[in-house]
Amino acid sequence: MQTTKAYAAFSATTPLAPFQFDRRELRPDDVQIEILYCGVCHSDLHQARNEWGNAMYPMVPGHEIVGKVARVGTNVKNFKVGELAGVGVMVDSCRTCKNCQDGLEQYCAEGMTGTYNAFERDGKTIAHGGYSSQIVTDQKYVLQISEKLDLKAVAPLLCAGITTYSPLRYAKVGKGTKVGIIGLGGLGHMGLKFAASFGAEVTLISSSASKEKDAKRLGAHHFLLSSDVKEMKKHSSYFDVLLNTVSANHDYSPYLKLLDLNGTMLIVGIPAQAPVVRPFDILTNRRSITGSSIGGIKETQEMLDYCAEKNIVSDIELISIQEINTAYDRMTKNDVRYRFVIDLKSLA
Ligand code: NAP
Ligand code: ZN
Ligand code: ZN
Repeated sequence: MQTTKAYAAFSATTPLAPFQFDRRELRPDDVQIEILYCGVCHSDLHQARNEWGNAMYPMVPGHEIVGKVARVGTNVKNFKVGELAGVGVMVDSCRTCKNCQDGLEQYCAEGMTGTYNAFERDGKTIAHGGYSSQIVTDQKYVLQISEKLDLKAVAPLLCAGITTYSPLRYAKVGKGTKVGIIGLGGLGHMGLKFAASFGAEVTLISSSASKEKDAKRLGAHHFLLSSDVKEMKKHSSYFDVLLNTVSANHDYSPYLKLLDLNGTMLIVGIPAQAPVVRPFDILTNRRSITGSSIGGIKETQEMLDYCAEKNIVSDIELISIQEINTAYDRMTKNDVRYRFVIDLKSLA
C-alpha cells in the first residue's frame, strides 16, 4: 500500500479538506503517475456536493490528471518512467462487451469505472481521483501526453477536451456547419476551439454579456446573449448543431427553437434537475436531442494528438489545492476563465 496525500469532500455541505489514503501496490499492468496538475471539472463540484444524489464520502475528486510516470508494472511496455502520462474520467470497464471492444468503453454494458466516486471492478474498493499526489491505473486507461504543449493547460483536455471533441466529431461538424456552443465555461471554451478548428461557423451562446470579448478571442465568429429575446428570435431555425454545456438547471425550449431542419442539440451538461422537453419544440423542423458521455480511450488519444498537432490547449487559471473551495464557489457563479487547474506541488 502506498500512502497518498489528497484533498477530499467529507459531506455535501462541508469544504474539501486534507485527507490521506492508500493507493494499491502495482499490478503487472499498472502505471503509477506522480500527479503534477489536475483540472477542476464542474462534475467534481456536482458530485462533491451530492447534486446527482450518488456521492460516496470521503471523496477525492479530479479526473483531468496529468503527471510523470513514476513506476510501471512488469507487463507495461508503452509507458516509461519519467515520461508524461494522463488519466481522464474512467479507469476501467468490463473490456469484453461490444462497446468496450469497439473502443466505446464509456458506454460499457456493465458501466464504466469512474476515476472517483465509483467502485472499482472488485465492487468494494472506492476509486479516488486526481486531487492527490499520485494515481495507479491500468495501462489500458492511461493516455500518452505530448511534451510539446504547456502541461498544466493540457490537463483539462482529459475531460473538457474529449467531452466536446467526441460529440462534435460524431455530428460531423466541419466546413459549412453552423454550430452554437451554449455556455462559456470549461467545456464550452474547448467546444468553441474544436468547432472553430474543424472549420465550422461558430456562435457562442452565453448567459453572461461580459464574455463576448473572450468568446471572440477564443475563436467564435458570433456571440449571442441568451437573455436578448430579440436576437434569439432572429436566430430561430438558424443552427445545424448546438452543443449544450450548461451546468445549471435551465429550460431547453429557447435553445431548441434555434435549430434548423434536422438540427441536433448535443447534450453534455448535466444539471441536477431533469429538463422538460416540449414535443412542439422537437417536431418542428424534425429536431433531435442527443446525449454524449466523454469519449473512448482511442478517441481520447486521437484528441490529444490532434491538440498537439494543432497547438490546442485550455485557457486556465492555476490554483493551489488550498484554493479549491473558493474555486468551487466561483464556478457556481459562472466565474471561470476558463478552467481552474490545481498545481499538486501545493499538496506537499
Ligand atoms: P463550467 O465551467 O462551470 O461551465 C458551465 C457554464 O454554463 C457556465 O460558465 C455558464 O456559461 C453556463 N451556465 C451556467 N448557468 C447557466 C444558466 N442558468 N443558464 C445558461 N447558462 C448557464 O462547467 P463545465 O466544467 O464546463 O461543465 C459543464 C457541465 O457539463 C456540467 O454539468 C458537468 O457536470 C457536465 N459534464 C459532462 C460530461 C459528459 O461526459 N457529458 C463531462 C464533463 C462535464 P455562460 O456564463 O457563458 O452562460
Ligand atoms: Zn469532467
Ligand atoms: Zn464493457
